Amino acid sequence: MLKIMVQKYGGTSVSTADKRVLVVQRISAALQEGYRVVVVVSAMGRDGDSYATDTLKSLALQEYSDVARRELDLIMSCGEIISAVVMSATLSREGITACALSGAQAGLVTDGCYGGAEVVDCRPEKLKEMLEQTIVPVVAGFQGVDAVGELNTMGRGGSDTTAVILGAALHAEKVEIYTDVPGIMTADPRVLKEARVIEQITYGEVCQLAYEGARVIHPRAVEVAMRNNVNVVVRNLEEEGPGTLITGEHLMQEGSFSTRGRRAVSGIAHTTDLVQFFIQFTEPNPMGELEIFQRIAEAEINIDLISVFPLVKAFTVKDEHSLKVEQILKGLDAQYLIDPDCAKISIVGVGMHAIPGVMARVVESLHAQGIKIKQTGDSNITISLLIGKQDLPKAVKTLHDSFQLNGSH
Ligand code: ADP
Ligand code: MG
Repeated sequence: MLKIMVQKYGGTSVSTADKRVLVVQRISAALQEGYRVVVVVSAMGRDGDSYATDTLKSLALQEYSDVARRELDLIMSCGEIISAVVMSATLSREGITACALSGAQAGLVTDGCYGGAEVVDCRPEKLKEMLEQTIVPVVAGFQGVDAVGELNTMGRGGSDTTAVILGAALHAEKVEIYTDVPGIMTADPRVLKEARVIEQITYGEVCQLAYEGARVIHPRAVEVAMRNNVNVVVRNLEEEGPGTLITGEHLMQEGSFSTRGRRAVSGIAHTTDLVQFFIQFTEPNPMGELEIFQRIAEAEINIDLISVFPLVKAFTVKDEHSLKVEQILKGLDAQYLIDPDCAKISIVGVGMHAIPGVMARVVESLHAQGIKIKQTGDSNITISLLIGKQDLPKAVKTLHDSFQLNGSH
């Protein structure tokens, strides 16, 4: 059995020639440790850089704002392909035999959903052959081909999912995700400087953090890893350090039987650009209420933090959908209020349901800072709070302190 490792390099990690040399060093170190390595790359750089995904997308939209989704997928898939060719050429120059592949060539079969495709099958025979011959395949992330040969992209963060799917299909020992932060952190370091790296975290927690806005890894990638028991490590390209190991709860190096002493909260995530809607009825109106939710669903708008009382319904939508929701509500003659400029902050931890008083602590610490809680929502390992956008940095800091996330992990 070959010892296989998948390494995924994000947009910033392949953006410059200097960084690509570091990438080669990482790959070469893994080869020296006896691994056969599969590389997955994202498009080079961020919006504005020549071959970044957003740049390619705007290039098409410049000419005609209504470009078909099929065509958009075709142009957006080029960024990763360019990146794969450049990376494979860099490897060859450094004496490592490599071969660039599109997602389709690597065997990723998608479901036909343009812009947000899911992988339904993975046929890694070609990759296996290359690995047998000690060739390093460099796979374009974020894309696949559907049953009728159409190219699909997988949505923002899709390369993470490509890497984990290949890891599962090839029975890789681990998948390493290289990015511009030293691992999964207790909060987004762009919002909180003192955020710390989490050494180990469960699939469930990372998945929840990712859903709630921590974009460091794609939630679908974590789901696939969890279902297939793939060990994932998130690390920084430019710094040494172990990074974060994402694994199953039973594999965490902690007391296996007792939850005592376990931390209540592992990390904090946030989402900005939310608008809260309040719909008011003068008397209970189940049919009217149903129609509102149906129309919003038909418009393919996701709603979140949903609270339904007999006369009042509240929910949030992303800023970009707020006009459309207003149109729907006006069309149905609904009475409503909106609160723009909201943000959602979510605390996540497998330990929280075993520890009483978590909500009390949240409320107490936010109130002490004069931060108004507009709405809440929860699941078994998450509590989410809707607050004013302007309060976000202070709220992250307050909850980070209050749940002692600066302490050792
Ligand atoms: P890549 O291009 O490598 O995929 P991303 O931009 O998708 O990189 O993800 C890395 C970014 O995720 C970081 O720069 C950081 O600002 C952000 N981030 C948000 N929440 C967290 C968190 N909890 N831990 C680490 N990074 C986070
Ligand atoms: Mg990413």
